[in-house]
Amino acid sequence: MTKKYNLAIIGYGGMGGYHAHHILKDHNRIQVTGTFDILEERQKAAEGEGYKAYESLSALLSDETIDIVLIATPNDVHKEIAIQALRAKKHVVCEKPVTIFSNDFEEILAVANETNRHFMVHQNRRWDEDFLTMKKIYDANLIGDVFHIESRVHGANGIPGDWRHLKQYGGGMVLDWGVHLLDQIAFMVKSKITSVYANLSYILGDEVDDGFQTILTFENGVTALVEVGTTNFIQLPRWYAKGIEGTAVINDWNINGKLVKQNFDKEYAAPKPIKAGQGLTKTMAPPSEEATTSYDLPKEVDHMESFYDNFLSVVEGKSAPIVQNEEVLRILKLMETIFESAKKNEVIKVSL
Ligand code: NAD
Repeated sequence: MTKKYNLAIIGYGGMGGYHAHHILKDHNRIQVTGTFDILEERQKAAEGEGYKAYESLSALLSDETIDIVLIATPNDVHKEIAIQALRAKKHVVCEKPVTIFSNDFEEILAVANETNRHFMVHQNRRWDEDFLTMKKIYDANLIGDVFHIESRVHGANGIPGDWRHLKQYGGGMVLDWGVHLLDQIAFMVKSKITSVYANLSYILGDEVDDGFQTILTFENGVTALVEVGTTNFIQLPRWYAKGIEGTAVINDWNINGKLVKQNFDKEYAAPKPIKAGQGLTKTMAPPSEEATTSYDLPKEVDHMESFYDNFLSVVEGKSAPIVQNEEVLRILKLMETIFESAKKNEVIKVSL
């Protein structure tokens, strides 16, 4: 008979609830059985939804019927909970960013190794359709070899939530959205990062960054601009990429966008000069009609095993993790370099 797994959620807030009600709702092999939250109202909410709300973390961890623990607390306490859960012989899924500093994650990994338990970080945006579309364009050279990628998320609501405003909880946008966008770029480009430049924004007056821009250079020649903003009342496209044969734009999470490619087979017609502003330009004139063709974005993307199916495959020794801990560690080091670059206002040479 196929084994079923019991999972308990520590930190039953927004994301804890999302795992229970959406991601794991119809999972055929994992059932959410219990929760623990330091807030009384969240304990009551969990009970109202039919879960066992444990009176303490240690009570939850000493329940031998629990196989997997999901950590969905604010970022600053992931480490201490992860280490206790691993020592209690639980397999652990942890929300992103796994820790605030890379050396804390190394400590978790040492304990996972020592206790022989599996630990996987929920870098769920590797499964996002917009990202998989961009990855398809990149992997299949649909605009020729891609040499520059821009990845942005723009909001206009400032930093959400309470703890995300505060440094002690691991707040700020580099750690919040940055970790996703950087993880996606690194997962796609698969080449070493050789230099990093970043600037952080503090427009809203918080002690943590309310947005950032970073420029990454990869060993294979690709450059990437990654940007998160929370004061953007007009949004720039989610993805913009340049290849040697064309350009791609993905405007939003609904995958609106297009590819525009150069027609190498047609006879080249030199662009006609146009009046632009108070001047004349040939360089910036639109290409002649025969020079380019627009295409729809690819519909068929390469789908991966779902996050939790993959986690179970890893636990059962059947496949390798899609989100590898070394990759997560690399992104933590990259974020440390981003903070260093912004502080010094310098390009930092790395081999990451
Ligand atoms: P939240 O504030 O809505 O929920 C956090 C919950 O943890 C709260 O109910 C709080 O009372 C509880 N908590 C705090 N300290 C605790 C402790 N020591 N023990 C037990 N419970 C504790 O925050 P959120 O938006 O749900 O974020 C939680 C985590 O999920 C963060 O790490 C965040 O970065 C991550 N997150 C991930 C995604 C994603 O797409 N992967 C999206 C949102 C949030």
